[in-house]
Amino acid sequence: MPMTITVPAPTVPVQGEAAAFPVRRIWCVGRNYAEHAREMGSDPDRTPPFFFAKPADAVVPGGGTLVFPSRTSSLHHEVELVVAIGVGGEDIAASRALEHVYGYAVGLDMTRRDLQAEAKRLGQPWALAKGFDESCPIGAILPAATGFDPTRGAIALAVNGTQRQSGDLSEMIWPVSEAIAYLSRFVALAPGDLIMTGTPAGVGPVLPGDMVTGTCAGLGEITVRYVARNTGEPA
Ligand code: MN
Repeated sequence: MPMTITVPAPTVPVQGEAAAFPVRRIWCVGRNYAEHAREMGSDPDRTPPFFFAKPADAVVPGGGTLVFPSRTSSLHHEVELVVAIGVGGEDIAASRALEHVYGYAVGLDMTRRDLQAEAKRLGQPWALAKGFDESCPIGAILPAATGFDPTRGAIALAVNGTQRQSGDLSEMIWPVSEAIAYLSRFVALAPGDLIMTGTPAGVGPVLPGDMVTGTCAGLGEITVRYVARNTGEPA
């Protein structure tokens, strides 16, 4: 007899709405703030943006207490503006791109920086450095209909109350409208897609016991607390 398999769909709460936003895919823009590109050792310019992905179930809606991930001794925080797509499309014009947005949130692109550095060195994909379990805590989505402006506003992150990252959405090399337009030339965007729009400078390590709080003006915050693993494995 065939087994019945049910898979819970990942969702993110929406501010002021009873129904949560169902997550289909998570696309992430790499090196989208000049200062962060420099701190990662590359030269920021207007070469085309690049993207990587996280699995939809990497989402941790609302944050909370997380177990420190396996197989890394260099877990890094990256605070990012998250764009939730509500209307799909291909070859979307930048001038119309924001009409495809359902809402915005603040999220964390948690990164196993040691695995990423090794992947870069070997010319390998970043999947396990970026797309691991619980690697994408996201705060509640603010509907775009509220008039939120994704072209400006402070974005920051603190660890245990000490500010580590600070920037402004206006510093994006590829603003939200252009990131949507560019990505939609390569994949058909659809409702449920999330786009993480890159992180400002100041990325750094998170340790077990740390409390990480990302904020974006007008969108509230996302807070995650890490506790040590208890597996007996090397970290
Ligand atoms: Mn990132």
